[in-house]
Amino acid sequence: MKTKGYAVLKAKEPLVAFDFERRSLRPRDVALEILYSGICHSDIHQAREEWGPAIFPMVPGHEIVGKVIEIGSQVSKFKVGDLIGVGVFVDSCRKCSSCLKGLEQYCVEGMTGTYNAMERDGKTVALGGYSDKFVIDEDYAVHIPDNLDLPGVAPLMCAGITLYSPLKNWQAAPRKKVAVMGLGGLGHMGVKFAHALGAEVTVLSHSATKESDAKGMGADHFIVTKDAKDLRHLHKSFDLILNTVSADIELDPYLQLLKLDGTLVVIGLPGKPYSLNVGTILDQRRSVAGSMIGGIAQLQEMINFCAKHQITSDVEVITADYINQAYERTVKSDVKYRFVIDAKSFN
Ligand code: NAP
Ligand code: ZN
Ligand code: ZN
Repeated sequence: MKTKGYAVLKAKEPLVAFDFERRSLRPRDVALEILYSGICHSDIHQAREEWGPAIFPMVPGHEIVGKVIEIGSQVSKFKVGDLIGVGVFVDSCRKCSSCLKGLEQYCVEGMTGTYNAMERDGKTVALGGYSDKFVIDEDYAVHIPDNLDLPGVAPLMCAGITLYSPLKNWQAAPRKKVAVMGLGGLGHMGVKFAHALGAEVTVLSHSATKESDAKGMGADHFIVTKDAKDLRHLHKSFDLILNTVSADIELDPYLQLLKLDGTLVVIGLPGKPYSLNVGTILDQRRSVAGSMIGGIAQLQEMINFCAKHQITSDVEVITADYINQAYERTVKSDVKYRFVIDAKSFN
């Protein structure tokens, strides 16, 4: 299937227009016309090899929303014309303990990423969502309801699920105090979900200008984190802290904000290791945890939750020729709050 997209040809180079072929449909495959594709900070980390060696040419993009244009002979979940979403992985082993529990993102053999990955045949390079068409096994895609703003749906496929999953796992609810570190693509979804789940929400941000936006999204409090000393009055305050910061920071000042048995979940992945002051976690029996996206069943649950609560991402819709500028602005935390590419502009 002839496909037009944008690719990084070599690490750290700007993205350029790139034509390629996608596979023809297998019996359980669905082909979609991509409508919108979000720009996640993980795209930038990988295009710049901030997580180690990557596969090039790379077509990034794992926040995909589109419309089904063709189905394989054995497809039962989708029909032509359906709205469809694709996220961070396109396959997994389907038989390990994680896959059987619907936690495909933690597949023991490793999930197959939507891009910067080899497909399970061991020879095809997976190419992602900065493109006009996509082909996916129906088991790894979700239904998108028709009552949501579609550009704002694309980021739910990564940013949305990545914050929804830990909020559910650590039971954000009324009377729980939740803090979100970093009001970017992920963080702003965390604020919306934590608020919808009834928690008291605090944003910890290094951008003072974002306060009124944060409050509009449902934050109860907004704290500027220019200096760790400014946080002393918040020591032992939070049940749950979700760290979505994409840059290298000191964790210790934030760990001190956890109350007894509180958990700081690391979600941002800047690349370098964090140092951990063990004394800080012994005190108050604190935990540090990690969380990675969510499984397919939870992805559908999150989309349905969004449809019920009318939650979407706040987006700036761009054309493909703006991707390189969008990367620069994202790195400077200058995006409100997710760039989304209008896929018509790949043609
Ligand atoms: P983003 O839109 O760029 O947001 C990151 C936010 O971090 C910024 O908006 C900013 O918030 C804060 N920040 C940036 N530089 C900072 C600095 N020097 N000091 C303090 N705060 C800073 O990125 P994103 O797409 O939300 O992704 C965030 C991170 O999560 C990335 O590392 C990404 O790779 C990772 N990620 C992880 C998963 C997972 O499954 N765990 C999934 C997707 C992405 P303020 O302006 O409010 O301070
Ligand atoms: Zn992502
Ligand atoms: Zn598996």
